[in-house]
Amino acid sequence: MSINTVGIIGAGTMGNGIAQACAVSGINVVMVDISDAAVSKGLATISSSLERLIKKEKLTPEQRDAALSRIKISTQYDDLKSAQLVIEAATENYDLKVKILKQIDALVGAEVIIASNTSSISITKLAAVTGRPDRFIGMHFFNPVPLMALVEIIRGLQTSDATHAAVQALAQALGKSPITVKNAPGFVVNRILVPMINEAFFVLSEGLATAEDIDAGMKLGCNQPIGPLALADMIGLDVCLAVMEVYLNEFGDSKYRPCPLLKEMVAAGHLGRKTGRGVYTY
Ligand code: NAD
Repeated sequence: MSINTVGIIGAGTMGNGIAQACAVSGINVVMVDISDAAVSKGLATISSSLERLIKKEKLTPEQRDAALSRIKISTQYDDLKSAQLVIEAATENYDLKVKILKQIDALVGAEVIIASNTSSISITKLAAVTGRPDRFIGMHFFNPVPLMALVEIIRGLQTSDATHAAVQALAQALGKSPITVKNAPGFVVNRILVPMINEAFFVLSEGLATAEDIDAGMKLGCNQPIGPLALADMIGLDVCLAVMEVYLNEFGDSKYRPCPLLKEMVAAGHLGRKTGRGVYTY
């Protein structure tokens, strides 16, 4: 199945990033959000991101114009009917996603593939609320989408081989390097990353080293571009804690217990960059 038009639900951080990646790669996009303000903001973000690429000489003005001409913005789900693939990238909330997916499932043709960009909700469970669980899949893009090479493709228990092949081909057409993952909490990358961050908080709370030295150790010794504690500040300590709590509940394994220091810092409102204070002060 060839995909020349992608529908995207949500024009936020991830939705507009996915839209940009598609449009730059020659794929038509219909980007839908709940208000004119939201879709306009999403489109403005894409425009300034393309402008930065021109300044860095990674894109020509002609390529920018061509990319922008491929993006249609809308507040009507009806406009998604022209898409062969609809990617749901709306707010991370289970009930909201179920509502959206049921609406899309009833609207678009039976052959259309529906994907979700969820970070934490079960793809198998979301597939089951649609009438096309074999044509449902996870496409987990990374932020910022135009720059990050990875897409985790998550197969629910019901996802067909044809659906997987079509989505894998699309990710490659976007210039991404997809990996294929079976559905499980955290998929692969966050399953490894967030417990590592949690462990960095244990190391900090045991007083083994300063935050600066812990981060320097992981940067210089493991070639990580950013230390785990600085990364926690970027992600948000509340998000890291919530993810650990999901793992602890879902796997029922005490190895996922959140570090008490992480819990204390979240309770204090020290959530990272977004509050001006986390492990570091901003
Ligand atoms: P965001 O808050 O930036 O954007 C979400 C958008 O969804 C908003 O513009 C909102 O108006 C819109 N929306 C809400 N209800 C809608 C509806 N009924 N119909 C259409 N649009 C609706 O959030 P985000 O960071 O872009 O996250 C989107 C999804 O991507 C989430 O599932 C999140 O878990 C996932 N994700 C996020 C990241 C990240 O780093 N931000 C990385 C990977 C995956």
